[in-house]
Amino acid sequence: TRQTLVMGNWKLNGNKAMVAKLINDLQAPAAQHPNVAVAVCPPVLFLGQAQALLTDSPIALGAQDADLHSEGAFTGENSAVMYQEFGVHYVLVGHSERRTLHGESDAMVAAKFAAVQQAGLTPVLCIGETLEQFEANETQAVVERQLQEVIAHCGIAAFSKAVIAYEPVWAIGTGKTATPEIAQQVHAAIRTFIAGFDTTVAAKIQILYGGSVKGASAAGLFAMADIDGALVGGAALQAEEFAAIISAG
Ligand code: 13P
Repeated sequence: TRQTLVMGNWKLNGNKAMVAKLINDLQAPAAQHPNVAVAVCPPVLFLGQAQALLTDSPIALGAQDADLHSEGAFTGENSAVMYQEFGVHYVLVGHSERRTLHGESDAMVAAKFAAVQQAGLTPVLCIGETLEQFEANETQAVVERQLQEVIAHCGIAAFSKAVIAYEPVWAIGTGKTATPEIAQQVHAAIRTFIAGFDTTVAAKIQILYGGSVKGASAAGLFAMADIDGALVGGAALQAEEFAAIISAG
């Protein structure tokens, strides 16, 4: 059986005081639910601070992006190799905000996925359709294309140490959570698609749902057979709300 994973993506939010308070406030809820894996992805600038606060904590550390190179003349970037020194375990790749606002193609996302794995960290591959694609019934085709590119580039075995996050773009930051039934349908399709390459990998991989998850909606999502946790944005910035999501796991 797959462990429930609740991951907070703080996006471009926080300051030193907030990082200290939020992490402090999450320690007890995380410790009280040892069956649930918990992770937070603060902005890169706060990784060092977070690492120190998370010494001996069950809360894992994640980063929100990584460059596809490990080092070199790439001004402004951060690499997965550098994250190693900060105790980072997970790295999001292909978040829809990176794809849309920073022009990341499926090919770039695949290269980043490979770079994260080469550094020994666990990529969290974010996939999902836009509202337009959802309304045109293209959801399955879109997520399969996004997966296919990474499978072609990295091989299916790479998914034995990876996480998938299904985040319908129309549900991100909009307050419109996909219903558990809609999400489950897509999660099952994702697992079936992966099973077409490797059934063992498909059975094992955690598929998280992301998009306006709140304390009140988490339990319904987690009750679904193929929903193995959540990637949480806005609600991850409020300790009580995030703790409620952890409790639902
Ligand atoms: P919200 O939870 O704010 O909708 O964000 C979801 C998300 O993008 C997490 O990566």
